Amino acid sequence: MVPCGIPYIFGTVGSPEKNLIPDALLSKNGIELIKAEVAGIDRDKKNVSTVSGDTVSYDKLVLATGSLPIHLPIPGLDKENAFIVKKDVAYLNNMLAAMSGVKDIVIIGGGFIGVEFADECKKNRDANVTIVEILPHCLQLALDTEFCDEAENTLTERGVKVLATQRVEAILGDKKVTGVKLSGGDELKADMVILGVGARPNTELAEKAGLQLGSTKAIQVDNYMRTVTDASIFACGDCAEKYSFFSGKLSRLMLASIATAEARIAGANLFDTRCSNCGVIGVFSTIIGERAFGCAGLTEAVANQEGFEVVTGESTAVDRHPGSMPGAAPTKVKLVFSRDNGLLLGGGVSGGRSVGELMNVISACIQYGMTAYEVSLFQMGTHPALTASPIAYQLTNAAELAVAKL
Ligand SMILES: Cc1cc2nc3c(=O)[nH]c(=O)nc-3n(C[C@H](O)[C@H](O)[C@H](O)COP(=O)(O)OP(=O)(O)OC[C@H]3O[C@@H](n4cnc5c(N)ncnc54)[C@H](O)[C@@H]3O)c2cc1C
Repeated sequence: MVPCGIPYIFGTVGSPEKNLIPDALLSKNGIELIKAEVAGIDRDKKNVSTVSGDTVSYDKLVLATGSLPIHLPIPGLDKENAFIVKKDVAYLNNMLAAMSGVKDIVIIGGGFIGVEFADECKKNRDANVTIVEILPHCLQLALDTEFCDEAENTLTERGVKVLATQRVEAILGDKKVTGVKLSGGDELKADMVILGVGARPNTELAEKAGLQLGSTKAIQVDNYMRTVTDASIFACGDCAEKYSFFSGKLSRLMLASIATAEARIAGANLFDTRCSNCGVIGVFSTIIGERAFGCAGLTEAVANQEGFEVVTGESTAVDRHPGSMPGAAPTKVKLVFSRDNGLLLGGGVSGGRSVGELMNVISACIQYGMTAYEVSLFQMGTHPALTASPIAYQLTNAAELAVAKL
């Protein structure tokens, strides 16, 4: 299952079966796959037992049990046609079947998952889709306000209704969902409700085995991804505790990009101490219709909250040159630097499909400690059909404008 692909089951991809990673990827690389649920870990005997009663012994064990969706205590969440975003093929098939023919879909939560669901629910379907978000903006935990505004406008153009600064208090209906009640007292018609408000680390196995959890309720690990309790057991991904690349404070970020980086670190360190985790930068990207949005590192708002005095630079240009090239999309880059030492702290981008890789470039610049001056001078490759013009390259130009302010 590709968790990041789950929203796309309901529009672009079409079925949970088309959102699976083939087992052959493992077998072709000499990895044995046993399909079973692990019920317990015996740390003294160094084995794991499955629900079906088998045991598998280990020298080193890696826990990668992921996360579980957060259930809010909203009355009525148990009604028919109220769904939580679960990573479960059978459940998602039921959800897909239930969606055929519905007229009014309410999505609780305007983070990436809620926004992606809303956009996908509008594809090939004549349904009214409403997002109810408790914060003043959708995507506010990841993007600066100007990007949130643009994303909300794009949602509105796509026919999605956004109700921000509102909370769903109850899901209405007898057996089946008929609506939701908002905190202000208003009621919305709904024949389907989708809850997408985040995830919590899945630590049941670790807890049963006596492994220590941290204050974020994730498995406590050191910089090498070893659990702090047992040097033979590693943990990585959503189930493992994280800290910020910037402040060293604990972080609740859970992303596939973080999980895979941690998995590589855990794998490399199993029998030797080879590489260390530098903490989470946090790279988000998403697309609504044909408009993509992303952020790497700290937004300006979060950088300010963290006590950084910041300087920003912004540049907007089309991502092809000349702008008459097919697929050209206006693309805005905003970079956030520390006034103190010029280091890049974060970047936000909106634009066409080039946003996804642009975010990754910004993340690399952050991770390897580039300053505004260095970003402004970095040598990018350009091509008319593939990138912005070298004279209007948003990343270097945004950095150059920030250098002028430093
Ligand atoms: C709808 C959605 C969209 C997302 N979109 C993005 C995105 O666009 N970009 C991004 O970076 N991140 C995204 N994420 C987050 C990303 O999917 C997770 O951070 C990532 O999957 C974490 O990987 P993981 O291996 O730690 O956990 P998971 O992918 O959750 O994998 C854990 C696995 O362990 C298995 N497991 C658990 N317990 C047991 C047991 N006892 N025995 C055997 N197996 C067990 C589970 O069945 C599961 O297969 C999204 C998440 C969701 C839900």
